[in-house]
Amino acid sequence: MAIERTFSIIKPDATERNLTGAVNAVIEKAGLRIVAQKRIRMTKDQAETFYAVHKARPFFGELVDFMTSGPVVVQVLEGEGAIAKYREVMGATDPAKAAEGTVRKLYAKSIGENSVHGSDAPETAAIEIAQFFSGNEIVG
Ligand code: ADP
Ligand code: MG
Repeated sequence: MAIERTFSIIKPDATERNLTGAVNAVIEKAGLRIVAQKRIRMTKDQAETFYAVHKARPFFGELVDFMTSGPVVVQVLEGEGAIAKYREVMGATDPAKAAEGTVRKLYAKSIGENSVHGSDAPETAAIEIAQFFSGNEIVG
């Protein structure tokens, strides 16, 4: 398995409850390395662009409102098979269906306010990383 990079967001429900360190501990314990990280307030434009693939879904407006409701921590994670590994570490979108020990099982409040985002494929990882980080902000 190759060394990959994936894009992660610690969402507003988690930053609000002061869980950045707790989420990072789960990430690092899984063997993923945080090679870039910054705390930002997402603009409506950024959130709409980021989640454009979900534009037609009934929850799109709610999702954009949520993602802009408070600070988020955007990250680049690096490791062996990082994209699939982080999806495993996050757990299912709906915390009620997430496996024990996953971030969403541990911390998510609901299917919408589910604490973390992780890229789902190499193509989306590259696009998402480039939306928030320039090359010199990523230090492997
Ligand atoms: P994932 O984040 O696991 O890749 P999706 O790509 O399907 O999940 O959805 C993106 C985000 O949209 C979810 O993480 C969640 O915040 C929100 N979302 C998904 N489904 C729903 C839903 N049924 N109701 C409200 N929000 C949702
Ligand atoms: Mg997704």
